[in-house]
Amino acid sequence: GLAAARASLERLVLDVHDFPEPGIVFKDITPLLADHDAFRTVIEALASAGRDADGNVVVDKVAGMEARGFILAAPVALALGIGFVPVRKVGKLPRETHAVSFALEYGEATLELHRDAVAPGDRVLMVDDVLATGGTVRATRELIEACGATAHAVAVLMELGFLPGRETIGDLSVTTLMTV
Ligand code: AMP
Repeated sequence: GLAAARASLERLVLDVHDFPEPGIVFKDITPLLADHDAFRTVIEALASAGRDADGNVVVDKVAGMEARGFILAAPVALALGIGFVPVRKVGKLPRETHAVSFALEYGEATLELHRDAVAPGDRVLMVDDVLATGGTVRATRELIEACGATAHAVAVLMELGFLPGRETIGDLSVTTLMTV
């Protein structure tokens, strides 16, 4: 059943303590990615966030956040039969971008999206590995809206339930496979 499937997926995400700095428990998804059945199950579940109850695709693009979001978002886009757009750290995209800066626990980060990556009116599904404070999702939503498009929903492999990520992203629908 679904509970057993989730439990076996959870065993493929490893807790790495004090990485990349003391006090952080890093969620290492590489064992899950290396397991074909688990990877495929995850992609299909994340892709369902881009379909309605009848199975119709209701989004126009899938946006993945650098770097682990790329690994999940690109196959989700292929599963939905639509295009993938990368949301990148500052200075990586070669053409005209929108940029949004946001606060991290220590310091600041800036994300960019090519101005023509999504068209006005497009509905965009955001995909990442972990929803923690919600800062990455909020910034990505701003980038999508700066292009005149709509952030339809967010799909993540894992939500850190002890952080208020979900509460900080407003009315956005969140699909998550695991809450830890
Ligand atoms: P946030 O912006 O705080 O929601 O953090 C989400 C982003 O940071 C995602 O792109 C994650 O890949 C990464 N991240 C945050 N916390 C963790 C964690 N404990 N383990 C792995 N990645 C994390």
